Amino acid sequence: MDIRSQVCMVFHLDKCIGCHTCSIACKNIWTDRKGAEYMWWNNVETKPGTGYPTKWENQDIYKGGWEKNGDTVSLKGAGKFKGLKNIFHNPHMPVLDDYYEPWTYKYEDLFTAPEGDDQPTARPISLVTGEHMDVQAGPNWDDDMGGSPDYARQDVNLVKLSAAEQESMFQLERMTFHYLPRICNHCLNPACVASCPSGALYKRGEDGIVLINQERCRAWRMCVTACPYKKSYYNWNTGKSEKCVLCYPRLESGQAPACFHSCVGRIRYLGVMLYDADKIEPAASVSEDQLVDAQMDIYLDPFDPEVIRQARLNGIADSTITSAQNSPVYKFVKIWKLALPLHPEFRTLPNLFYVPALLPTMATVSNGVYDSTSQSLWNGVESNRLPMKYLASLFSAGNTGKIVDVMKRLMAVRLHRRGVTVGDLNSAEISTAMNEVHMDADTANAIFRLTALATFDERFVIPPAHREESIEMLEATGDVKGNTGFGFKETPARGL
Ligand code: SF4
Ligand code: SF4
Repeated sequence: MDIRSQVCMVFHLDKCIGCHTCSIACKNIWTDRKGAEYMWWNNVETKPGTGYPTKWENQDIYKGGWEKNGDTVSLKGAGKFKGLKNIFHNPHMPVLDDYYEPWTYKYEDLFTAPEGDDQPTARPISLVTGEHMDVQAGPNWDDDMGGSPDYARQDVNLVKLSAAEQESMFQLERMTFHYLPRICNHCLNPACVASCPSGALYKRGEDGIVLINQERCRAWRMCVTACPYKKSYYNWNTGKSEKCVLCYPRLESGQAPACFHSCVGRIRYLGVMLYDADKIEPAASVSEDQLVDAQMDIYLDPFDPEVIRQARLNGIADSTITSAQNSPVYKFVKIWKLALPLHPEFRTLPNLFYVPALLPTMATVSNGVYDSTSQSLWNGVESNRLPMKYLASLFSAGNTGKIVDVMKRLMAVRLHRRGVTVGDLNSAEISTAMNEVHMDADTANAIFRLTALATFDERFVIPPAHREESIEMLEATGDVKGNTGFGFKETPARGL
């Protein structure tokens, strides 16, 4: 057992209102610079939709992440060897049009235009060329299913649905959507780190945050290709790649990252989980239907005396172990089993987990009429408007059983709380739903509390900074295993 600590995150999608405050908070702090205009380290997408950059989930196009190779994994399209042949032309690299051409408006025309019959307008001008431009796309172009025929229908997750299932999703009266906020997942098996020929990317020892050393970066851009979530970006002005830093200067001073702190819907949770680094490679290499369970098995019980003993032996401070014991992420992910990783089939073992949206998918339509009677409102999750297969494609590598289980647990909490607060459901119906997922009233109330009423300190349990641990762990592991500190494959050749 090789115990490490990792800052992990949960986003509760039922609570996201798509306000983009998180994106703006991040942009104002980190990417409001020349060369970074098109970057959204935090972005919010509408699902179904094609996202940002367009169709980022389609690895037939971008070749990001890992693929299973027998009992191990190898990078799909980047890395020292596969990447070398694409140095001068990489067909899998997203180009500016896949993101969008950033623009501003020529506001001075509003003040300086000569008097005339028409109102002056501020025309869009490109932030790249400075020329007038026709805006063709943006980072959230398919917002609220805008332009559904062109965008929502191109969602790569729909390919797992039959033609009839897809058609039923896009009947006007059945259409539904939810938001998907995304940041770097600070993965346990980060393809970006493994792909970098210069060894510029690294994972911090004490909290697992993945960073790019700007001094070492040599603009190979392998990380842009390798990250299946497209959360590493190339800055054309500095000639370096950049990515989300999880606001580590804020974390080190006990503050939540800016996107977490500013989140209007309070959908975000942050906390430490302890994990066994020895299980990373085996967990990344299992078959697709096993991926969620294998990843969950990596995270350890922070109350287990043996885990605590081994964690101390590995130099993890008691204050970090206490943080892990109080972690809201540990509760959502491991204890309550309500949060799942996004696209686990990319095999990077992401540390951002999502509680899937139950609310927008509930309620049925009969004869074209939205049926809000209690009986229909609380129908079984299988009859929801958003097919379980679609959600399984997002959050469980197509394992429908996993997503149905999570949705049933969410439904059980709602039924229980409806019984407590409104009292219009019969108690047998509530008991049946609770028994099916083996949930008692105390657990349902605890889930409700952390979901709806949690204070700032309950949502963000930030470990105290221990920089000295990071140095020790990286050095120790590098010596023993001859790798980059966490068992990454394709160890970068430093100094390129
Ligand atoms: S999500 Fe972040 S850590 Fe994971 S591969 Fe992409 S850039 Fe790397
Ligand atoms: S600030 Fe929060 S609620 Fe608003 S879009 Fe971002 S994640 Fe959603």
